[in-house]
Amino acid sequence: MMPPRSDPLFWLAAGVLLAGLLMILSAWRMRRVRGLSSGRTLALDDVTLYSPYYALRGRPDRIVRAGGTVIPEEWKSAKRLWPGHIAQMGVYFLLIEERFGVRPPYGYVVLGTGERRRIANDEKLRAWVLDLSSRIRDARRRLLEPTRPRPRPAQCRACGQRDNCSERVA
Ligand code: SF4
Repeated sequence: MMPPRSDPLFWLAAGVLLAGLLMILSAWRMRRVRGLSSGRTLALDDVTLYSPYYALRGRPDRIVRAGGTVIPEEWKSAKRLWPGHIAQMGVYFLLIEERFGVRPPYGYVVLGTGERRRIANDEKLRAWVLDLSSRIRDARRRLLEPTRPRPRPAQCRACGQRDNCSERVA
């Protein structure tokens, strides 16, 4: 029950109510500005997902539980959708499936213009991302392999290390 208006507590309680209302309005406005969809937020850029199986890691800007599933949302300052944005979403789909046991049917990339682009989690995207990640893993493994120089003979002839080098070609 509110205290009478003559009581200073009345104005204190009114101030607290007003501040709460303003915070709710501000949060609602922020959600609209940032293109947030409805649904329960499970993570807001504070959960890093990792899959030892795929050797993939990612941190979606937002993970939402909505309509009986879990979807990722990613905000970009770019004004258009790039293939890298779609690949990143494909990685999130795999990571969310592994973490939450739910295969997201889609996700959203929210562009700098505020436009929400829906990315379908279809077989084509999944195959593309799995192929990309497999090629990245192969490239990482090769980083540990020594590289063979392919100098031109003129380079070796002018090289100060030629007497110590087993790879020289002249
Ligand atoms: S001599 Fe050896 S280090 Fe020098 S340019 Fe040739 S390969 Fe390279």
